[in-house]
Amino acid sequence: MSETATANILVELLPQKAKPKAGKLFINGEFVDSASGKVFNTYNPATGAILASIAEADAGDVDRAVKAARAAFAEGSPWRKMNSSDRTRCLLKLADLIRANAEEISELETLDTGKPIFESSKFDIPQAAECFEYYAGWVTKITGETIPVSKGGDAFAYTLREPIGVCGQIIPWNFPLQMLSWKVAPALACGNTIVLKPAEQTPLTALRFAELTLEAGIPPGVFNVVTGSGATGAALVEHEDVDKIAFTGSVETGKDIMRTASKSLKRISLELGGKSPNIVFADSDIETAAKYALGGIFFNQGEMCTAGSRIFIEESGYDQFMSVITSRAQKMVAGDPLHPKTRLGALISEEHLNSVLNYVDIGKKEGAIVTTGGERIGTKGYFMKPTVLEGVTNNMRVAQEEIFGPVASVIRFKDIEEAMREANNSQFGLAAAIWTRDIKKAHKLARSIKAGTVWINTISTTDNALPFGGFKSSGFGRELGKAAIDLYTETKSVWVDLN
Ligand code: ADP
Repeated sequence: MSETATANILVELLPQKAKPKAGKLFINGEFVDSASGKVFNTYNPATGAILASIAEADAGDVDRAVKAARAAFAEGSPWRKMNSSDRTRCLLKLADLIRANAEEISELETLDTGKPIFESSKFDIPQAAECFEYYAGWVTKITGETIPVSKGGDAFAYTLREPIGVCGQIIPWNFPLQMLSWKVAPALACGNTIVLKPAEQTPLTALRFAELTLEAGIPPGVFNVVTGSGATGAALVEHEDVDKIAFTGSVETGKDIMRTASKSLKRISLELGGKSPNIVFADSDIETAAKYALGGIFFNQGEMCTAGSRIFIEESGYDQFMSVITSRAQKMVAGDPLHPKTRLGALISEEHLNSVLNYVDIGKKEGAIVTTGGERIGTKGYFMKPTVLEGVTNNMRVAQEEIFGPVASVIRFKDIEEAMREANNSQFGLAAAIWTRDIKKAHKLARSIKAGTVWINTISTTDNALPFGGFKSSGFGRELGKAAIDLYTETKSVWVDLN
């Protein structure tokens, strides 16, 4: 672990070092105290021990951060004057710095979230670096169009794509640095400035990343971090001088944000929950489908908005599928998330673990059968056995509500019509997976499923180039790909009279 501000705020790992100072906010290129001096603790989900002391930003602190972001966005500021080649280099440098510090950042992510270091180091952190590389490529390719106009006689018309301004970005605790990268990389590529509010459970990698922005040559004020609870996020949404809010989190908070943002007509994009159907036809490679289904629901302890949490299986493939998924789920052992061999980590908090366990009870009361799991593991840390519920019908709460934990609800179906109807019978529409060897069936279903992402014979993959987002209560706006360039720019039409 390097001698950094991050090292300073780590309590548990570095007790022998100088007394760690309370967490800071990152405003205008500096780590500063919150005005109130208030702090709160974060906890290591693997042990329940206090991990770090973090600053609680209030509305005044948020205002300071927004003012810094506004000043950094002003005409003539170093950021606005920076040409696109230099901005590309800043983003590439950020990616390089994430890679150069990957070991330390992965460790921070695992300590904060409880996810296995295998996942942090092989997925979260490298994918965050790749996201900056991907958007570094976009910086020099953000263009308007020349458009022939039919009115006004001789005219020359074209469009410009301009940065929106100050973007408030509010992210959740399940993939902290990756969610940061999905929001920060395109926003910077387009020339915006940012106030980021990480989740209160997992602020460490965002604070470490803040240091890297300075090393990468991002001017002070362009990227700011305000740590705190939902109230800090709400203050950011309330702020009159924030032009856009990008949010990933729960449906209820998303609705709240939409209501508040309507007062100032801020642009908003919302990536909310999911209850994604994973539809397995009997004509598929069932063994492979079952293996992937495990990853689809148990990766990251099931704490994924895209989790394939409703597994639909066609009658005649049911027994084979259940035997593979159940026996493999039984073999998954939880362990110290910092151990490289661990594949199943801890859930984020005791409160969340209890909520997930409560869903298992709800399922049982509704008539579901626990084929494996359903219990907490040990008493230290927040570990839970991978759980498979069978005998579920799509109207049960365990099939309709987002559990956000390692619980798969398995539902039988008879034919494609039933699969299609029940898959869409959900308030959510984030993702879906289809397993079949029949390409007509696969594409027909892909077309009729109301979800932002449909996987065919795979599950849970995303790519920086491919738009990601939801239908229905899963939100709106598309992140990643070119879609995020649209999300972080305004279009201006310019009309020149040549008569
Ligand atoms: P989760 O249930 O996954 O914690 P939340 O929607 O509560 O989802 O939290 C996601 C992010 O939104 C976190 O950073 C949290 O602090 C923030 N947040 C929570 N409530 C609000 C709110 N009312 N306004 C803005 N941000 C909020």
